[in-house]
Amino acid sequence: MMTGAEYIASIRGLELQARVLGADQAALVDDPLVAPSLRAVAATYDAARSAAGRDLACAQSSLTGEPINRFTHLHQSPADLVAKVRLLRHLGNVTACCFQRCVGLDAANAVFSVTFECDRQHGTRYHDRFREFWLQVQRRDLTVDGAMTDPKGDRGKRPAQQADPDLFVRVVARRPGGVVIRGAKLHQTGMLNAHEILVMPTMAMRPGEEQYAICCALPTGAAGVRHLYGRQASDTRKREAGAPDAGNATFGGQEVMTVFDDVFVPDERVFLCGEVDWSGPLVERFAGYHRQSYGGCKVGVGDVLIGASAWLARLNGVDGASHVRDKLVEMVHLNETMFSCGVACSAFGHATAAGNYEIDLLLANVCKQNVTRFPHEIARLATDLAGGLLGTMPALGDLGDPVVGPYLRKYLATVPGVDPVDRMKVLRLVENLVAGAGAVGYLIESVHGAGPPQAQRIMIGRQADLEGKIGLARTLLGHSPAGASGR
Ligand code: SF4
Ligand code: FE
Repeated sequence: MMTGAEYIASIRGLELQARVLGADQAALVDDPLVAPSLRAVAATYDAARSAAGRDLACAQSSLTGEPINRFTHLHQSPADLVAKVRLLRHLGNVTACCFQRCVGLDAANAVFSVTFECDRQHGTRYHDRFREFWLQVQRRDLTVDGAMTDPKGDRGKRPAQQADPDLFVRVVARRPGGVVIRGAKLHQTGMLNAHEILVMPTMAMRPGEEQYAICCALPTGAAGVRHLYGRQASDTRKREAGAPDAGNATFGGQEVMTVFDDVFVPDERVFLCGEVDWSGPLVERFAGYHRQSYGGCKVGVGDVLIGASAWLARLNGVDGASHVRDKLVEMVHLNETMFSCGVACSAFGHATAAGNYEIDLLLANVCKQNVTRFPHEIARLATDLAGGLLGTMPALGDLGDPVVGPYLRKYLATVPGVDPVDRMKVLRLVENLVAGAGAVGYLIESVHGAGPPQAQRIMIGRQADLEGKIGLARTLLGHSPAGASGR
């Protein structure tokens, strides 16, 4: 297993084609805009050695029996699934941001079971290929970007009906020994901090859409792969000396748009190619795992926001007020409700035909549906508790200014003995999460990551077993449990 420092050195060695705020960059490790996101991924490596994280972050490989980082683990039990949620909460506590490495983990567990079942049905040989690929990921302790979301163009049209057929990632040619893919993936969390990309179809494909049913792996630095860095609110505060107003100067998330300009992928890295009937299950399983993930990571970030709010109340001298305490209780209630869902869908996990474990799909979707709402309510309460200064405070960087600095210390003072500078720093941390760069991960991603709210409602509707529930009511009232018409 790599240390965080070894991981950062390994990323430094990659030669990526990246565009960051108008400049082409190959070396991103030292860019203050990008470095916090790299440190957040490094925390997933350091967790395997830290006293607080070791027990959660270390696992035993089902492929080799060797110790591995849980971020490369194929889950072997409900206990493994619960440990994953707890690990994600722990890392949310440490970083207060998206630490990016879970998407590849979730993709791997979905691809592992889907390739097994696809091979069984179609006589293909994808599963062994994927095992071999993932063995290398485990051995080298790599970070993998799980790439699902296509641009999708006109939402009313299927992939092949688009004016531009590249709006969905597709195979444009088959060459001896491999395929050539073209298209783009949006919302790529942590792409520039990853060694490998695991490409998956964006949705269930239908007969006639075989070229779009492609799952494969390629290095982030492969020829023809270009990365466009995503902007985040107030992101350039990270480029100011010392980043005093960034709120969270140490850690941050990262989102990227990645373009595949006719990229060659060798056969041994192709895990689905034209089997349209397995694209839907792959999307569903990946989304299920990632909806479980949010019951851990967002809760961990929520802990920090609740802590910052409670601290601020103390600095302001209102921590004893009953309405303040009640708001903090409400924030905790919402946060632990999401965690309960993450744990529940894990505890009710089941073995797949391939042998790894999958979450309970209904409960995972309920988990994520709550995550589309509760962080926003927690953020609203945090904003309420913080007061208007959250949106009006002068720069922390001005504290050193001989004219402005003394005014800031005088007029932002609260309880005697409280340093106004502490108060300002906590306000910036809250601002980061409710309106700054951190809000991309905590609020926007909570709505759209792992699929928008309606996607979960569709899945909840499918899993709801309303007929079974009608049967319960019928039985109770003396009707036969399953009347032919249900009437
Ligand atoms: Fe992991 Fe959460 Fe970031 Fe997804 S949003 S990659 S689950 S930290
Ligand atoms: Fe996500």
